[in-house]
Amino acid sequence: MKLIFERSVKGYHNDMIAPCDVPVVPMPQEMKRQKELHLPSLSQPEISRHYTELANATFGINDGFYPLGSCTMKYNPKINDEMAAFPAFANIHPLQPEHTVQGSLEVFTMAESLLKEITGMDAITFQPAAGAHGEFTSLLMIKAYHEKNGQGQRNKIIVPDSAHGTNPASVAMTGMITVNIPSDEHGCVDIDALKEAVGDDTAGLMLTNPNTAGIFDKNILEITKIIHDAGGLNYYDGANLNAIMGVARPGDMGFDIIHLNLHKTFSTPHGGGGPGSGAVGCKSLLKPFLPNYYPVKKEDQITFTKPEYSIGMVKGFYGQFSVFLRALTYILFLGSEGIASASKGAVLNANYMLHQLKDLFEVPYGDACMHEFVISLDQLKKETGVSALDVAKGILDHQMYPPTMYFPLTVPEALMVEPPETESKERIDEAVEVYRKLYKEAHENPEAFHNYPLHAKIHRVDEVRAARQPIVRYRFEEE
Ligand SMILES: *Cc1c(COP(=O)(O)O)cnc(C)c1O
Repeated sequence: MKLIFERSVKGYHNDMIAPCDVPVVPMPQEMKRQKELHLPSLSQPEISRHYTELANATFGINDGFYPLGSCTMKYNPKINDEMAAFPAFANIHPLQPEHTVQGSLEVFTMAESLLKEITGMDAITFQPAAGAHGEFTSLLMIKAYHEKNGQGQRNKIIVPDSAHGTNPASVAMTGMITVNIPSDEHGCVDIDALKEAVGDDTAGLMLTNPNTAGIFDKNILEITKIIHDAGGLNYYDGANLNAIMGVARPGDMGFDIIHLNLHKTFSTPHGGGGPGSGAVGCKSLLKPFLPNYYPVKKEDQITFTKPEYSIGMVKGFYGQFSVFLRALTYILFLGSEGIASASKGAVLNANYMLHQLKDLFEVPYGDACMHEFVISLDQLKKETGVSALDVAKGILDHQMYPPTMYFPLTVPEALMVEPPETESKERIDEAVEVYRKLYKEAHENPEAFHNYPLHAKIHRVDEVRAARQPIVRYRFEEE
């Protein structure tokens, strides 16, 4: 398809800017652009066609089954968008005086109190705009806490080898150091390795439970105690909350701070890198370190405050308001029973699908899981030459999205499958049939897999060339 710059024809335009109604002030010469700005010139129907073509080339949760492990690709209920479009919410300005937006400020305090109850934490901030951003915020708070207590030498964060890649990346962003520890044969934290890793320099632990393999770590209380006894803090990567919300609380497992991916567990849109919401919850001991703009109710008025030892701001203004408003809508709509049954449904769906596949595929971590499961195609690859990537490409031909591939890194030829609770038994059965069919085909006609997908919008891409010669921006002729 053509890029928007390639569709552009000089002279066509679509600007409907009203005449200026304030005095025109000339721009200082030194601030003026040297070269004309490249803006595409298109009529409105052409712009509309361009974006429709882009939308048609993508695959989303509204197109079909999307069991992307660790990503919780949940259906986004329409009522969420209706609430976000409500004019009293949609037409406010971030600089409006607080007394004129008390209803919107109540969205903060209501969402906070419900998420406190779900997580077992004592305070929530909505400033961070994504999961990784929430990790970064949490780590800055942990760092500030140790520094405040004269323990600035604590600069090591323990991260299991099964962790999401963003965990060590966030540690590096804060200037701290990652200490990797291995998992045991169940994919859980190796207690002996953990005991060995802690010391006077331990700032904390980053953990997700259930872990990335979809296993609930039964030693969780011992793990968090080892860290606390060593003077560190426990951070919970809350991306996997869809397995436990309304059932178990990280706050009761010994965690001090948590980030939540509202764009996963709480049904707000993923949005291709943002805008998401990586809300951060913490226990009282970390509350003074929360980012700026923490809403507090004083004499019937809600006002933003700056916590005493605040790490400052991690984003402009107050976070993605329309996103956590959607999450609040979702929680209120489901109610406490609905929240718990969503988790139980996710766990049931994952176990159902696992049991339909375990006779064909290797299951490295036992045959029961939480909200997601990992299968290994190592054996299949050895027998047929067909890899996890080939099977994933084959799945694309069946109007469904493949699972996460090659993650966790601890499992060879891994596929990580997460069918959210919003999927019906019929949809899961369809998917199971496709996986089984591809398994059979891998043995009968392995060569066919080299060209898959055949029917998707984009066919097999040259991944080596894409990695070696990445073209990531458009070059104009005169460049
Ligand atoms: C998705 C995810 C993250 C990161 O969230 P983003 O919003 O993509 O930054 C972190 N940890 C885990 C386990 C995740 O699944």
